[in-house]
Amino acid sequence: MNKGYEVIIIGGGPAGLTAGLYTSRARLNSLLIEKGLVGGQIVNAERVDNYPGFPEGISGFELGQLMHQQATKYGLKTIIAEATGIELGEEQKEIKTTEGNFIAKAVIIASGSERRKLGIPGEEKFTGKGVSYCATCDAAFFREVPVAVVGGGDAAITEALHLAKFASKVIVIHRRDQLRASRIIQEKAFAEPKIQFLLDSIVDEIEGEDVVKRIKLRQMKTGEKSALNVAGIFISIGLKPNTDYLKGILPLDPAGHIITNDKMETEIPGIFAAGDIRQNSARQAITAAGDGATAAIYAQKFLA
Ligand SMILES: Cc1cc2nc3c(=O)[nH]c(=O)nc-3n(C[C@H](O)[C@H](O)[C@H](O)COP(=O)(O)OP(=O)(O)OC[C@H]3O[C@@H](n4cnc5c(N)ncnc54)[C@H](O)[C@@H]3O)c2cc1C
Repeated sequence: MNKGYEVIIIGGGPAGLTAGLYTSRARLNSLLIEKGLVGGQIVNAERVDNYPGFPEGISGFELGQLMHQQATKYGLKTIIAEATGIELGEEQKEIKTTEGNFIAKAVIIASGSERRKLGIPGEEKFTGKGVSYCATCDAAFFREVPVAVVGGGDAAITEALHLAKFASKVIVIHRRDQLRASRIIQEKAFAEPKIQFLLDSIVDEIEGEDVVKRIKLRQMKTGEKSALNVAGIFISIGLKPNTDYLKGILPLDPAGHIITNDKMETEIPGIFAAGDIRQNSARQAITAAGDGATAAIYAQKFLA
């Protein structure tokens, strides 16, 4: 594969794919580097109802595929590889990946975010064996059995509502005394008889044999310990930006997000960032796509 490009985009979610559509359509020789499935996080959404242009909604997987198809039509090239670092030269940037190194004049970083982990005993051991980070992907495996959801934000409560369609019981465990989810989502959850709430509580350990059997809990105010028999535990405690490979290269905020101006420019000329990876991103497919378009337009101006 050709190793020199005018623009290299890291990450093939809505931000990267939109950036790729714009740069390719502007006839810039562009390469998209994606480490997993093209489409990004949105592929996990069973149904996306808030992406304009689809009045009946669309599956997240299909939306990702269509975005990729549209960008490819204008010449965007894609390679499946993980970006592991960037070396800054005078005029060029070298992107290091698991499939070799690539040179670009401008770089758009759109590597998004991934689910945060609890970091407790049993979590890693039982991942895929009862521990999940995506109810949309895995809920159907938990028919007529009790499951737990850890978290209290919009994502966690939306996952609990989805799980209630399959599981016998859904216990939401949240470390604070109130949920953080928006009122409309909370109201839906309170009206769902299968959903129960354990507030002021945390999970200390996940236990089982081949698969998850129970979780150990601690009441935050009293310190009282208990155990709960569940077949699954869905962890939804926020997102971690995928910026580990950029440490020491770009300034990041304390949570690891990239700081940009409203042209999506970072502190380093020729390096742009777009989507969920940015500080203060609204973390939606449409805002990520908007950032991608903006980054591509200013990358084009930078190259001109
Ligand atoms: C279950 C679920 C449901 C959702 N539902 C909706 C919804 O209904 N409406 C909505 O607007 N939003 C929804 N979202 C949020 C939306 O998916 C995100 O806001 C959006 O995908 C962010 O786009 P992005 O391109 O910035 O990043 P991402 O979608 O996170 O894409 C980043 C891509 O970069 C890749 N990557 C990461 N690191 C590297 C690396 N080092 N090298 C190469 N590639 C890398 C990743 O594999 C990924 O494909 C949902 C999210 C989830 C998880």
